[in-house]
Amino acid sequence: MNDIWILVQHRDLSIEEVTFGLIAEARRMAADLDQAGDVTAVAIGKGLEEALPTLGAYGADRVICLRDYALAHYHGEIFASELARLLKQFTPSYLLMAQSAETDDLAPRLAALLETALVTRAVDLKPGDGGKPVAIRAISNGYLFEEVFIEHPAPAIISFIPSVLTPDDPHNQAQVEVRFESMSVKPDGLRTKLVDIIEAGTETMDLEEADIIISGGRGVGQGRSFDIIRQLAAAIGGSIGGTRPVIDRQILPFESQIGQTGKTVTPRLMFNCGISGANEYTAGMEKARLVITINKDPSARIFRFSDLGVIGDVHEILPPLIEQVKESKDSD
Ligand SMILES: Cc1cc2nc3c(=O)[nH]c(=O)nc-3n(C[C@H](O)[C@H](O)[C@H](O)COP(=O)(O)OP(=O)(O)OC[C@H]3O[C@@H](n4cnc5c(N)ncnc54)[C@H](O)[C@@H]3O)c2cc1C
Repeated sequence: MNDIWILVQHRDLSIEEVTFGLIAEARRMAADLDQAGDVTAVAIGKGLEEALPTLGAYGADRVICLRDYALAHYHGEIFASELARLLKQFTPSYLLMAQSAETDDLAPRLAALLETALVTRAVDLKPGDGGKPVAIRAISNGYLFEEVFIEHPAPAIISFIPSVLTPDDPHNQAQVEVRFESMSVKPDGLRTKLVDIIEAGTETMDLEEADIIISGGRGVGQGRSFDIIRQLAAAIGGSIGGTRPVIDRQILPFESQIGQTGKTVTPRLMFNCGISGANEYTAGMEKARLVITINKDPSARIFRFSDLGVIGDVHEILPPLIEQVKESKDSD
């Protein structure tokens, strides 16, 4: 049987939405596979006891959880060897995960340990010859796509861009039983040790974790013009993101790209400056809570995704706003 596993992704004891999207993807994949088996969600960590049974409502047939105090924080060697052990024991055909800072580290480690196939940055799966799946992945920053036929010694590992993962509505209140496993890796045998966790400054913070994001698009301009975005970010304590043209022009690094082929962000507050709101951009920011947009063009699509829209030139609107923010901080 072709069992499919998905990796449960979680933060602060809550299951992240990409996990539900992975279950939906696994169910679609199972419908296309010959001899499809179960969809199993596998979690690594602690403190997830209450959340995990709810995965049944999203379509998981069973849940396995590796729990231990040593698994409270991600550690590449431990997570990879523990997960590899479970995969060898239960022999699923596929393991699906969503791209993140952790899975970018975990997936290649696992593939090397298991000597199996790995496809990263997948945007879709379709059935191929002999019932084996073909993964579609974006290359050249989304300008091209390639199809990858997955030959495998099982389990093949597929890591998806988060913005393409759409959860199905929970179909019932069904809770699944969670099977708990304990850890077997001995800390003495490790080659690396986690010594400290350093909080990132807002400017360098991973955008997926950021609470406040100032995002700039082509309309902001190049060179010193983009400093206005940096000044607003510094004044209100936000992280900086941008659209693909901004990354293509090397104003910001690729890690700062928001959208279908970049990061999916969920900040409490987001500013969109000089951004038109193409589908591929809004796919990565539509779950932002409070969205403020500044654009010269009143018909720009981005206004549809905004709670507050200001029609005007960013270089006229932002300087007085930055001054006001600074003044109100000084008077506090
Ligand atoms: C397969 C594929 C994947 C893609 N992936 C992504 C992705 O992940 N992320 C992404 O962002 N894009 C992606 N794109 C590109 C996307 O289609 C758009 O081209 C891009 O998002 C447009 O960026 P923009 O809004 O900065 O630029 P534009 O569309 O050029 O918009 C600029 C906006 O700025 C406004 N403006 C101009 N001057 C000012 C001013 N002084 N003040 C205020 N407003 C001003 C204009 O009115 C306009 O609305 C992808 C495209 C493809 C085909």
